[in-house]
Amino acid sequence: MNFELTKEQQMLKEMVRDFAEKEIKPYAQELDETSEFRHETFKKMAELGLMGIPFPEEYGGVGGDTISYAIAVEEIGKACGGTGLSYAAAISLGASPIYYFGTEEQKQEWLVPMAKGETLGSFGLTEPNAGSDAGGTRTKAVLDGDEYVINGEKCWITNAGYARQIIVTAVTGKREDGKNIVSAIIVPSDTPGVTISCNYDKMGVRGSNTCEIVLDNVRVPKENLLGDSKKGFSQFLFTLDGGRISIAALAVGIAQASLEKALQYAKERQQFGKSISKFQAIQFKLADMATEVELARTLVHKAAWLKDQGKPFGKEAAMAKLFASETSFRAANQAIQIHGGYGYMREYDVERYLRDAKLLEIGEGTSEIQRLVIARHLGC
Ligand SMILES: Cc1cc2nc3c(=O)[nH]c(=O)nc-3n(C[C@H](O)[C@H](O)[C@H](O)COP(=O)(O)OP(=O)(O)OC[C@H]3O[C@@H](n4cnc5c(N)ncnc54)[C@H](O)[C@@H]3O)c2cc1C
Repeated sequence: MNFELTKEQQMLKEMVRDFAEKEIKPYAQELDETSEFRHETFKKMAELGLMGIPFPEEYGGVGGDTISYAIAVEEIGKACGGTGLSYAAAISLGASPIYYFGTEEQKQEWLVPMAKGETLGSFGLTEPNAGSDAGGTRTKAVLDGDEYVINGEKCWITNAGYARQIIVTAVTGKREDGKNIVSAIIVPSDTPGVTISCNYDKMGVRGSNTCEIVLDNVRVPKENLLGDSKKGFSQFLFTLDGGRISIAALAVGIAQASLEKALQYAKERQQFGKSISKFQAIQFKLADMATEVELARTLVHKAAWLKDQGKPFGKEAAMAKLFASETSFRAANQAIQIHGGYGYMREYDVERYLRDAKLLEIGEGTSEIQRLVIARHLGC
């Protein structure tokens, strides 16, 4: 067993950390205030090859592993939670399903430009009445000659306002046991009948683009079906398992940022004639934060390593996502506590960390759903 990063992974970590410090962190507060998506950042990430880390070179990527991808998400998320979410969603939800399940033509058409960072993609699963219960999808896709005709509505879809295409889940039929067959279909966002509006006023991750999508008699060629129509459900469960590793990595990034800010502040702040870091009550908070961050990161890297080895990783991805997101929220909360009244003010980053971290306990499966997934793996 070897817990050390490889030379390549270490170099990537340093490169992304340096980039995030210079090109992402300085804009984090502004994006939080304006709720704007910063295109420039994604252009620069593309130039560094970051948009294609986990994809092979033949598909425009750089042929990295999942651990490298998790390292990049952590460093980007440490600088700005919203940018981290958009980055993770672009790769895990926009591009990865096409890499996992797409035909060669689909990969050339849609994956290659995404991996090169020329375009972004989205994944539209959630609907107003189907969140955790994704099997309750109401969007329908009916085959009419050589085309699918899609009708329905999706909500809270990350990056959709800037996506060239959206992978949409839709009911395409019924199984023998009467349950719906849910398939995934690639819908170019400029197809007539697609309306995308991005007017949500979010609590956190405000630098990330989040949209509502209405599909009104949207026609796409039947070749846009992604993977096996009958296995759409298991395909997106696999996609979400992978995505959970990246959300967990993002959580580690925010937790690490909280720890560093709190430690720095505790050393500087003087009360009762000494720095507050000399009080055991503050030291214990910092010690707990550091321990949990270390544990969360180890879980993330283990889940990523299992995925890279081609071994089952669903349970570990759910554990990593559950533990890291809750760690992130606790760490941000303690960072505010250590900052006292200053921590409650917007100009100090820690209150933003708390708002950003909260999303991670909800998106890509709530903490309750992660516990259900883990319990199922235990045989409950
Ligand atoms: C900023 C943001 C970005 C997002 N990006 C995307 C995206 O790109 N693509 C996409 O498809 N979706 C996206 N989502 C949607 C997200 O994945 C869902 O919000 C999430 O899966 C939860 O669904 P829900 O909000 O409908 O909550 P619900 O499913 O209605 O859950 C409400 C509460 O009930 C609990 N609950 C539900 N079922 C059970 C159960 N069986 N047992 C115990 N408790 C249960 C939940 O844990 C939760 O606490 C995004 C959401 C946000 C806020």
